[in-house]
Amino acid sequence: MEIIDGKKISSEIKEECKEAALKLIEKGITPCLAVILVGNDPASSIYVNNKKKACEFCNIKSLSYELDENTSEEELLKLIDKLNDDDSVNGILVQLPLPKHINEDHVIDRISPLKDVDGFHVNNVGALCTGLDGFVSCTPAGIIELLKRSNVDITGKNCVVIGRSNIVGKPMALLMLRENATVTICHSKTVNLKDICKNADILIVAIGKPRFVDSSFVKKDAVVIDVGIHRDENNKMCGDVNFDDVKDIVSKITPVPGGVGPMTIAMLMKNVIKASERY
Ligand code: NAP
Repeated sequence: MEIIDGKKISSEIKEECKEAALKLIEKGITPCLAVILVGNDPASSIYVNNKKKACEFCNIKSLSYELDENTSEEELLKLIDKLNDDDSVNGILVQLPLPKHINEDHVIDRISPLKDVDGFHVNNVGALCTGLDGFVSCTPAGIIELLKRSNVDITGKNCVVIGRSNIVGKPMALLMLRENATVTICHSKTVNLKDICKNADILIVAIGKPRFVDSSFVKKDAVVIDVGIHRDENNKMCGDVNFDDVKDIVSKITPVPGGVGPMTIAMLMKNVIKASERY
């Protein structure tokens, strides 16, 4: 069994972004990401801080907008309009979730698709569906990098994705299809989930339930990608997969922590570089 090392691979990608940023700076373009946080949710604050730190490491300028919890939707949309019009800003990220009085769909829709480095805008999702170039949601894009940089051959493989969220499951399935896998998407209404998973050469689990997938779901020598992030009853981090139970069956597996998690921010940096290069 081989552990797919997300920490190492994400560091490589950040190093590549750092070099790419330097080349852009030499050409007079300073890559710049604007990060907007509304309210003071502690988890969101940690994510935003980590994104700022990654920008600093990669020579990407970061602008931070920390707005009061009671900011109106209109005020937030106005700020997005201003950043859309600002040529010195290459990427715009609004940290989700937003307070309940703000409609997330309106906000995502307002970000220019050319600056939508999270890849959530409907134009970018449409581009992914039709095979056009665009920004891809960072977590699934990171999983493709993990597979490729770990020499996992995707073409022709049976891939099962558990989960159909807009952020992970759906774009993940589309990306695996783009890489020529034969893809099955499972969700909470799927019948015979275990049987379907047992057929997977590559099993990608984004179900949001701690240690849900055990050895009874996994084919011998399968590659298992665990997207989940949880803290168990002992405050220990774990994923959607019961790592100890499946580790002797799989050929490769991502651990939690240190698997998919670090890839998300690395791919965000990659998207900011792409936005800056397009500019
Ligand atoms: P989500 O929006 O809650 O989606 C979960 C999906 O799992 C849904 O499609 C749901 O089906 C399906 N599901 C739930 N119970 C099921 C069951 N018993 N059998 C089969 N399918 C079932 O979650 P998400 O945003 O995609 O995130 C998934 C996990 O990844 C979470 O643990 C999250 O914290 C983690 N995550 C990690 C990163 C990272 O950077 N590593 C990024 C994003 C998310 P229905 O559609 O039918 O409800």
